[in-house]
Formats: sequence, structure tokens, C-alpha cells
Amino acid sequence: MKTLRFLVPTFVLLTIGMTPLTVLAGGFDRSVRTVEHMEPAIPRPEQDAVVAAKLAELEKKTGRKPNILWLVVDDMGYGDPGCYGGGMAVGAATPHIDRLARGGLRLTSCYAQQTCTPTRSAILTGRLPFRTGLTRPILAGDKLTKNPWEDEISLPKILSEAGYKTLLTGKWHVGEGVGMRPHDVGFDEYYGYYAAQKEISQSIDPRRYPDLVLDEEKFEAYKELGMGHSLMHGFKGGRTEEVSVVKSTEDMGRADQVLADFTVQKLREFAKSDKPFFLEHCFMKVHCDNFAHPEHQGLSASKYPYKDAVAEVDLHVGNIMQALEEEGLLENTLVFFTSDNGPQMDAWPDAGYTPFRGAKGTTFEGGIRVPGIAYWKGMIRPGRESDDVFDLMDLFNTAVHLAGADDAIPTDRYIDGIDQTSYLLHDAGRSSREAAYFWWGSHLMACRMREYKVHVQVVLPQATHMHIDMATIENVGLAPWFFNLYISPKEEMTVGHRRNAWLATVTGKLKAHAATFKKYPPKDIGLGMD
Ligand code: CA
Repeated sequence: MKTLRFLVPTFVLLTIGMTPLTVLAGGFDRSVRTVEHMEPAIPRPEQDAVVAAKLAELEKKTGRKPNILWLVVDDMGYGDPGCYGGGMAVGAATPHIDRLARGGLRLTSCYAQQTCTPTRSAILTGRLPFRTGLTRPILAGDKLTKNPWEDEISLPKILSEAGYKTLLTGKWHVGEGVGMRPHDVGFDEYYGYYAAQKEISQSIDPRRYPDLVLDEEKFEAYKELGMGHSLMHGFKGGRTEEVSVVKSTEDMGRADQVLADFTVQKLREFAKSDKPFFLEHCFMKVHCDNFAHPEHQGLSASKYPYKDAVAEVDLHVGNIMQALEEEGLLENTLVFFTSDNGPQMDAWPDAGYTPFRGAKGTTFEGGIRVPGIAYWKGMIRPGRESDDVFDLMDLFNTAVHLAGADDAIPTDRYIDGIDQTSYLLHDAGRSSREAAYFWWGSHLMACRMREYKVHVQVVLPQATHMHIDMATIENVGLAPWFFNLYISPKEEMTVGHRRNAWLATVTGKLKAHAATFKKYPPKDIGLGMD
């Protein structure tokens, strides 16, 4: 294996003033490591007990474990939904998403990884991308050297074995070869598109991609790369069918309606079953390139395709929630609404809004802080809000816990997720997570701990808003960039060495995190380890 240079990042060797940064996690770190292979958690015994009793009471009433429904939007910005300060104010009202937030728990420090594949794989494994090898999106032309899923234990696998029906509707983007598709890695059923919208529209939109679409020779060469443009329907251990092919921008525009209709139909089927379900609904929108559904063009006040896409996603959220209500499922279903990363500013104006610095592709808040809404009628107190740190990987452990399958979490590998059941369900719940870590490929970039955030490397655009296509990874220089996000939410002004004791605790946390890779080495699947 390549030298593990990331294990001793330069910042650890730095000194600020005359004080060496040798302090390990401690100081104001409230977390406790109980077992070597699990991320340390803040003990919350009292809220755990209250919530355990609440869940036991519900199970007595329903006679089954709760259902789990995730609604994952692609590339939606923190500032897009109305309940996060966007909505009507930025030209696309989101009444259904806002209603979900009012009726449940709105998280204001909910974190994803900085791009699609890393987040999507992390929430299904409870493991950081550098551990699974899924360090960046799989793109046309990529040749993987190893199936990353071969030796991963996925959430749908655990839940299936715990008696759940498991379904993924929509975008996958975590490998489309045999052995890597959703129904190969644990889901009972898959209905969706393997790739992101942009991967598909490259071959159907002559206005944006004329050099490819209108040039026969190039187009043939592109087709040989074999990126799927089809709506696929697959079954675990069974057949995989092509339902339809996206042949036009109108077809692309209709995709989310087709997916939402399928999810609604399946929810009605699940309601008749005596088994609980886990359904991950992944929208194609609002990832560029957005094309309006012919019936929804101009749905938003803004009329721009991106804004129409936000409004359409909101419409589908409303329809899916209505189906849950009509089928009497609301009281026994944890719903979690989120986005897999921040807005992709490179595609502006087909891009979302974040009030924070940076965007998709960076580990500044704009790239990683996303909307996060937990809703469960009767179990989550309406109108709750919390700024405690929540990592989307925690959804893995939380779902496993709700299914009563804690023993199925593997012990031979490092698990970065933390069970947050009692945080989400207690009327005054506090997070069990002390810190979240942010990576860019094999680069350990930053750590958020309480309201503090330290960067040891940063992604800097070399042209305005080009956070992916024209950006570089830079070392921060003499001292880590240390922000108090409460007084500099846009990460503009560091508190620097004036707060050295605090800085030492956060960097100590980061160093302890890096050290976990000594015993649990990263996995190389050919997506790049440099
Ligand atoms: Ca994404």
C-alpha cells in the first residue's frame, strides 16, 4: 500500500507560537470510545432510556418494528427550502418540505460528504468513503479495479435479514456493473436510473453538448463507454429489466414524476404487508442538468429550470407524504429528508443556493452542510430545532437500531456512524456526535466539533464559483484555519491562535480520527488514492 502520509498530516507537526500541538482528544471533548472499531459517542443514558420506553410502547401497539423512509435530493443547497431561509424568498416556494420541518425536527448542522457517491455509499455502510474506496463519483470511462461492495455490509442487507422489505427508488450512482447495483448489494428491489442527470443529458441535449450529440463519430465513441440511460427495474437474486430509455430532454424532465409515482404505488403495497419497510427515495433532480416536466414548466415563481426542479421535488415530497398518511403509515414511519451534498455552483444558474462559503466539491460549509429534517408523527415533537452536529452516516446506525439489529453491525471494520435514535426522538434530544470529519478523496480536510471547525487543507476555486472544474487543494500554510461558525458562519475570519486550547482539542480530535486508519486501512478500488 502507498505510504499513509495522511496519518501524520503536517498540521500535527505545526506549532502555533511556542505551543506544540500535541494535545490529543480531551479538553472539551465529551465523547467516549467504548469499542475500538466504533466512532466515539457522547453518552446520553437518560434520553436513551426515555426513547427506548417510547419505542417499546409503540411496538406493543403496532406489533412490528418501525418503517424507515429516506427522501434524498441530489445537490439541493442548504438555502433552497423555505424552512432553511430559501423557498419563496429565492423564487421557489417549498410548502411541503416546510410542513415536514414544522411537524418534526429541523437540523441546522446536518452534514454530508462533499459529492454524491461518497455520501450515498457512506449512509448505506456507516463508513467514510476513504474506508470503502468510494472516494468520488463514478463517472463515464472509469474502470474500477475492485467491486467496493464485495466486502461491505450494507444497511439494506442488514434490514432485509431483520425482516424488512427494502427498496431503492431513483438515482443510485454507486456502481452500475453486475454485483454493484442496488439489488446486488442488499435491496430487495430497485427502480431507477444508475447515473446522475448530467451523465444522461450529455447524450440528449444538443444545446449544451453539441460537440458530442451532433457529431456521429464522437457520439458512437461515447456510447461505447456504456453509461446507462435507462430506467431499470431489478430484483434481488432475480431479473433486471430495462423499463424505458431517456431519449430526450422531455423524458429526462419526466423522470422524477415516474419515480415518485412508483414510490407512492409501493407505499400502498407495503401498507398491506405484515412486514416493515425501508425505502430510500433518491430524486434525480435537482442535480444539473434540470429539465422541467412538461406539465410543471414554470412551476416556480422564478421560472428558471433549477427553481422549477426545486418546486417539483417539493410537490413529490407532498405526494409521498400524502400517500403515507392515506395508508395510515405516518405513526410508524421515520421519515428523513436531506440532500447528498451542497449546490453545484459550477453549473450556475442550474444550481442551488447556500448561505455558506464554498459549494459542492469543497469541504467548506457550502459543500457539506445540508438540509436535514426528521419527521415521525407522534414520536418527534413538532417544531423541534437543533444545531447539534449530525452526520448523515448516523442514519445507518439509527436505522439498524430501530430495526433491533444492533448485533448485525460488523465488528471487523471501522464504523464511522453513530446511533442517533434518542437524539431524533427525545423531546429535548441532544446529539451523541461530538465531531464530524470531512475528506476529499484521500485528503483529510477538516473537522467540525461543537461550533468550531478546523481546516488542514482547503479546496480553493481558481475562478469564481468553479469549485469542481477549476479548483485546487491547498495546504493551509502555517497554521490550521480555525473558525468559530457562530461568529463566522461563512468561514471568513479565523479565531486562530488566540484560541489555542480549543484549537488543540479539535486538531487532537482530527489526529485521533486519522489514527483509526492505522488498524483499519483504507480500501483502493481504482478511483484514486492520491
Ligand atoms: Ca449530489
